[in-house]
Amino acid sequence: MSLELAALRRQFPIFANHPGGKPLHYLDNAAMAQVPRAVIDAMAAHDSTSRANVHRGLHPLAERADGAYDAARAKVARFLNAADPSEIVFTAGCTASINLVAQATGATLSPGDEVVVSRLEHHSNLIPWLMMAKARGCHLRYLPVTDDGRLDESRFGDVIGPRCRFVAVTHASNVTGAVSPVRKLAEAAHAVGAAILVDGAQAIAHGSVDVQKLGVDFYCFSGHKMFGPTGIGVLWGRRNLLALLTPPVTGGGMVGQVTDDDVTFLDLPYRFEAGTPPVTQAVGLAAALTWLGDIDRPAFSAEERRLTDRLLDGLSATAGVAIVGPKDLERRLPVVSFAVRRLHPHDICQILGERGVAVRGGMLCAQPLMTSLGLAAGVVRTSLALYNDDGDVDAFLIGLTEAIKVLT
Ligand code: PLP
Repeated sequence: MSLELAALRRQFPIFANHPGGKPLHYLDNAAMAQVPRAVIDAMAAHDSTSRANVHRGLHPLAERADGAYDAARAKVARFLNAADPSEIVFTAGCTASINLVAQATGATLSPGDEVVVSRLEHHSNLIPWLMMAKARGCHLRYLPVTDDGRLDESRFGDVIGPRCRFVAVTHASNVTGAVSPVRKLAEAAHAVGAAILVDGAQAIAHGSVDVQKLGVDFYCFSGHKMFGPTGIGVLWGRRNLLALLTPPVTGGGMVGQVTDDDVTFLDLPYRFEAGTPPVTQAVGLAAALTWLGDIDRPAFSAEERRLTDRLLDGLSATAGVAIVGPKDLERRLPVVSFAVRRLHPHDICQILGERGVAVRGGMLCAQPLMTSLGLAAGVVRTSLALYNDDGDVDAFLIGLTEAIKVLT
């Protein structure tokens, strides 16, 4: 392990505090990344010195909290290269962001309109659209995937047709790791007059995202998958499109005038932030972005790619293992899923867990994808982050071989 990587790992308290004193080989980053000390400290400092509700109070403490919350929003806007901080809505997470857009957009759709998702979607970017389509009499259409778990680009034109009003796709699959050709999808959506939302839950932790360059209309992600806190997510939307949507969730903090019979809403982004927002978490998310900006992200990302290559090689050489997803490094994340002949993913996860190797197994919130791939019990998923090293990959590969031996 390089000195830089060792120093980076030391910034994550979890690795020193693993119960039983055994080393932790954490390869479940696609479910939740670990959090650096800088983020924990920023949230503790906020709660210790500046805790108050936001955009309500006029006392100095409330003004400090307002400042911290507004600064967090501005930081996220710069991170995504949004045109303006008012395009950033803080939510409870990626799922909440998608539900917000699905419900608000649904109100503008008519029976017979089409909404396009893909076979790669996590349930979070599927069920909100499914429910909305059922309620509005719209048709849900699916972009198919290739045998190696990528979106089939040759079929975009067949599925995104003249009745399509909205496209909702993942930036990268939480199962196959494949990165979607987002710009092409945006062009296809816009060519038929549809808007496009991109689920960035997985992609955001593995490279920079420039929403303007991507050419999309909405982009969402969660704090906890990118070294930030739980309980916070982001919805970015183009100002002109967000402004057309009626808030699906209403309450305090988002209104102008309220009478017995009517209500007016505040301007963007507050109209979409009903109730007390996740203030401390916003401070933590901003700290995570600062932390990411302070490390040599390209160097650590290159290391992540090298380890992914090793992981793919090791899995390819393990008898009985079938990788589910692209076997090359081109346009894929360090998220690698696989099935083992005749073995249940949960049994493998349990044995690996006993050896201090944390991986995820099962349906991965992607049942339609598993069905289309013929994987009734799902897969085992390994997912890397910037702090993983060769020791983690070795422990996983050795543990997997032993698990297969024990179970067969
Ligand atoms: N989309 C994808 C691709 C995901 O992998 C996940 C979580 O695993 C989500 C959406 C939902 O994120 P959250 O549970 O943080 O709302």
